[in-house]
Amino acid sequence: MPELPDVVVYVEALVRFVRGHTLERIRVVSPSVLRTYDPPLSAVEGRTVEGFRRLGKRIVWDMGDELFVVIHLMVAGRLAWVAAGAAVPRKVGLAAFDFEHGTLLLREAATKKRAGLWIVRGEEDLAGHDRGGVEPLEVTLGEFSEALRRENRTMKRALTDPRIFSGIGNAYSDEILHRARLSPVKRTGGLTEEEIGRLYDAVKTSLTDWTERLRAETGEDFPKKVTAFRPDMAVHGKYGNPCPVCGSKVQRIVYASNETNYCAICQTGGRLLADRSLSRLLKEDWPKTIEDLEEMGGSSSW
Ligand SMILES: [Zn+2]
Repeated sequence: MPELPDVVVYVEALVRFVRGHTLERIRVVSPSVLRTYDPPLSAVEGRTVEGFRRLGKRIVWDMGDELFVVIHLMVAGRLAWVAAGAAVPRKVGLAAFDFEHGTLLLREAATKKRAGLWIVRGEEDLAGHDRGGVEPLEVTLGEFSEALRRENRTMKRALTDPRIFSGIGNAYSDEILHRARLSPVKRTGGLTEEEIGRLYDAVKTSLTDWTERLRAETGEDFPKKVTAFRPDMAVHGKYGNPCPVCGSKVQRIVYASNETNYCAICQTGGRLLADRSLSRLLKEDWPKTIEDLEEMGGSSSW
């Protein structure tokens, strides 16, 4: 699922491509993608796009007069810039946003469509889309520590909970924990000040590094290869591969249809913890609703 770095790069591309242009028409081809009926699509059609912002993992279009378009890509939703008026691909196409100089496609390569599109009126209603987590790149160490310790959760769950942190999902949480040399199943209540400091630095460094990398890869184009699995990630999606820090094999904890990747040498004091008990630990601390699960990007096809 697109997480903070991916969404930031999408937003920057949208600013380059369509800010200041008139959104002529929205073609919704998969009716379930549109989650609102009032205001109608026509409320934003014919308006100039004034700007974009990121709200957690959501992309918010500012259409002026307190009208907003909100897109949540969930796990498999992606955006693409194509020729003006291009046909929407049958199986994967959800909606198309038509401009005079091109069309923005919202697509989702998954059998079960989860991505959503909302038309919102007013800042107050827009705030309803905010899950409340702190912005990981903006918080102070004190705020970070406070958010982290509010509930006693496993590290994995705390990082991916949108009510605690904004924009972090399954992929970057693995990378952050590896960088911080912390176990995914360690409880936030048991963290020392030193460990919290290390985690704070790892969150900032990982997300900033990755945003810069994706930005450089995208250049002036529209982002094309948006994926949670990147060859240069340290542990995420790297089960069985050598850890780039110590060379030992990357491990995994499998729970439900997901997995968490970690390095035993770097993160769990060399202990290869029994997969089953770890799975249970994570499962007990796992989202109770499908919305929460999808928000963190945990239900992709692996
Ligand atoms: Zn290692």
